[in-house]
This record gives sequence, structure tokens and C-alpha cells, in this order.
Amino acid sequence: MMNNQNQNFLDTERWQGRAFFADWQTTAAGVMDVTDPATGAVIASVGVGGAADIARAATEARAAQKIWAKTLPTERARILSKAADLLEQNGTELIPWIMRESGSIYPKASIEIEHGALFIRHAASLATAPMGMMIPSMDGRANYAKRVPHGIVGVISPFNFPLVLSIRSIAAALAFGNAVVHKPDPRTPISGGIIIARIFEEAGLPKGVLQVVPGGADAGEAMCTDANIAMISFTGSARAGSKVAEIAGKHFKKIQLELGGKNSLIVLDDADLDIAASNSAWGAFLHQGQICMATGLILADEKIAEALTAKLVMKASHLPAGDPSTNQVALGPIISDSQVASIQAIVEDAVAKGAKLLIGGTHDGRFYAATVLSGVKPGMRAFDEEVFGPVACIVTFATEAEAIELTNNSDYGLAAGVISANTGRAVRIADELDVGMVHVNDQTVNGGPFAPFGGPRKSGNGTRIGGPADIEEFTTWKWISVKDVATPYPF
Ligand code: NAD
Repeated sequence: MMNNQNQNFLDTERWQGRAFFADWQTTAAGVMDVTDPATGAVIASVGVGGAADIARAATEARAAQKIWAKTLPTERARILSKAADLLEQNGTELIPWIMRESGSIYPKASIEIEHGALFIRHAASLATAPMGMMIPSMDGRANYAKRVPHGIVGVISPFNFPLVLSIRSIAAALAFGNAVVHKPDPRTPISGGIIIARIFEEAGLPKGVLQVVPGGADAGEAMCTDANIAMISFTGSARAGSKVAEIAGKHFKKIQLELGGKNSLIVLDDADLDIAASNSAWGAFLHQGQICMATGLILADEKIAEALTAKLVMKASHLPAGDPSTNQVALGPIISDSQVASIQAIVEDAVAKGAKLLIGGTHDGRFYAATVLSGVKPGMRAFDEEVFGPVACIVTFATEAEAIELTNNSDYGLAAGVISANTGRAVRIADELDVGMVHVNDQTVNGGPFAPFGGPRKSGNGTRIGGPADIEEFTTWKWISVKDVATPYPF
């Protein structure tokens, strides 16, 4: 499916230095460079948005939304399907952009294209789903409730899986007749914004329905206060999510928060340890650990912990870090120098408090080595916090009850995994875990368009995204009652 349809689909001349309003135009806040985190080289520039640009985008979107909401669902579905086709057909050209801008290895960048297209197709199918119900009448009148779009949805997305995490909100919002003002992370405005604007532009989405304005926290906060924006769909850290909730809540917006995770992979004493080590390495090291669902804790039964740890250290020793655009590597760069410093501080804190650094714990610039820490315990930052770096943290447990408690005591509640030769035993444990998503006989990194994604506590605010959750999140109820004729009241 990834045969390049048009060698210049992204067409830099069209968007360099600009943002996507009703058309590609300059922003009031100016221009910013986009850099490759592996080399520091400037790869392009985009228009950066401030509060005035967000206000402009929301005003333009408001007019466009009224018409989009009245567009036949079949036509909305057709445009979405076309956008999915374009994303897939131009994958060969787009993947290197994702690799360079977000420091991704090829397989991760190609998953973004593949899953991005799946999310759009899923949204296309929702556009034609039944959108309401007849409800009981108290006096014989016709009484029904239908799902209607919110109006304008503000989408704020992170740097780590920029394409998929932007598309999953944008496509679902558009499917139901919402317009979208989208603010990708300023570190990944191309994968998280420009590519998406291009596919919808070419797919024939009416002008103004999707606005893409790259920007930082100030632009995000402007979205949270803008009177034209009815809902904020936010994916990012708990810290920023809390701020978004505070501001958008004050302005009466519907708020969807998809936040961080500190995800446990529980390895039982009967597990195949080669498979468990492979699952642990994938869950902890994929995309340098910069994934909300990354395996943040490997909870190993004390009977097999040593053997599992040895196998994991061996795996880590065979995972080179480097520039994925020029070398065959397993790990690309960390997104920023400050994030490298944050990872290093968490590893040093663990070692100072008694954890053992078995491999890694070093970096060459932004290339952080695959790292394994054993003896990780509550009270260490490596246990309590999301690392967002390639650090496998091994924790031992003596009983199943202890593994469950270690998982459930986390501030986060996004994902978990349980590996065992006894599926029934693993499912019983899975049922006890207070998380939004749990995978039996798999590691924690699992996502896709058909499942309701999300979790409790610092992982979100009770909303979910994807699958059956999308109708609930991206539409609201409208009750309509119809009497054949108006009748008198006592007054
Ligand atoms: P971040 O919170 O720093 O940034 C995310 C987005 O929020 C960016 O677009 C940023 O510009 C914007 N932002 C920051 N401060 C803001 C503010 N005050 N008001 C409005 N917008 C603001 O997160 P990050 O570092 O880009 O991403 C990593 C975090 O995202 C991790 O915690 C990770 O677990 C989480 N994440 C969650 C999911 C999920 O689906 N649950 C997926 C990916 C990443």
C-alpha cells in the first residue's frame, strides 16, 4: 500500500513558514525552525501560532463547521476514506520525515502511517453509525435523542507518536461533523500537523474545517479559553493536562485528557523467560521508552527474577543507539537535551537509593543507551515516575497479591501486562489490576483504533479514546420532543 503516488506529496513550497488556516498562510506569531533531534540540523520551518492565530483559526472554523455538520455522513465518510488512502499511498515519502523529525526508527515511523490510516478508516465508519434513539414518552408525544457534534474541537498533541496521536482525535472529531483547531507539539509540527493538513487538503475536506496551528503552551492555553472552542482533546503529560483541565474547566469546555503511564509488566514464575525478556525489552525500549504505554516497571517473581534480568541485560547489550536516518539502530535519539538530563537524574536517584545499574546509564549526546536497573523500589523516582527514556526497571515480588498491590499503588493507571504459561491465572490477576488496559501474555505497548484507550488517576480524567468511546466523546446529546399540536397549560 505504500507505493508512492506523488514524489512531492508533502510539497514544502506550499507550507514552509506557514500554518494551515482556510489555506496555507503566515501566522502573526512568526516562524520557527523544525530540527532533527539526532543531528540538530534544521529540516524545515513552519508558522508558529500565538493567541491571535488561535483566535483566527477558531473564528474561521466556526463558519466552516456549520456547513460540515450538515454535510451528508456518507460524504464525510468518503472524504475521510480518501485521506486514509492518501496517507498510505504516500507512506514511502512521509516515513523519512517522521523518522527525522521525531527521532524514530523505520518500523516505528511506518507503524504511525499504518495506524494513522486505520484510525481514519475507523472514523469514516463511525460517520455513518446510528446517532440516536427513541425515548419513552410521558404524554404520547414523539420523543427522541440524537447525538450531535460539539462544534469546534481543539486538539493538543504530544511529540512522541505525533501523527497517530493527532489523527486519532482529529479524524474522530471530523467524522461526526465537528470542525477542528489542532495544535501539534512545536517539536513535531510536520508529523503531527503538516502531513495531516496535506492529506485532508488533498482529500477535499472543505476549507476551514481543519485548522492546523503549531505552537507551544501559550497557544494551547489560548485554545482552552477560546469561546468558539467547545471541547479540548488533550494528549500529553499529567502536568500539562492538569493545567489544561483547570483553564478549560473554568471556561466550561468538555475536556478529554489522555495522559501518562507507569505501566507494569508482571512476569509470573511459570513464564517462558526468553519470551518474557523479549517482551520486556520491546515494552521498555521501543522508541527509546518515550511512549505513554511503555513498560515502566518489570515486576518479576523473585523465583525467576535473576534469570529474567540476565536475559534482559543481554538483549540491552545488542540494541545500539544512533541516528536512525543514517544507521541501522534499535534506538534513536531522545527528543531533547533537557529530557536526556531528566532520564539521567532518575537513573542516578535510583542508584543512590540502592538500585543496581546493570547496563547503560550513559549517553552520547541525545543517544541514551538501553539501560537496565534491578532492585527498583517504591520511593525511588524510577519506581514512582514516568521515565520517558530507555530504562528497564526491575522490581521483584514474592506473591501475586504483592504484584497486584505494586501495580495498583501507582499514581498512574494506563496499561499493564501479565505473562504466564497459565492463561487462567494471568486473567485472574489482570482482573484485579486498577488500570484502563491490560494485556495477557503481552507487554504493555498496545494501541489501535478499535479499543477504548485510556486509564484512571494521573493517566486521564475518565474519558477514553478510540473504538466505541469515540461517539461518546466527540458528540453530545440533544433531546427533541414533538407534539402534533401545541396544548394549553394552567397558566
Ligand atoms: P507535554 O504535556 O509537555 O506536551 C503535550 C502537548 O501539550 C504539547 O502540544 C504541548 O505544547 C502542550 N502543552 C504543554 N503545556 C501546555 C499548557 N499549559 N496548556 C496547553 N497545552 C500545553 O507532553 P510531551 O512531553 O509532549 O509528551 C509526553 C507525555 O505525554 C508523557 O507524559 C506521555 O505519557 C504522554 N502521552 C500520553 C498518551 C496517551 O494516549 N495517554 C500518548 C502519548 C503521550
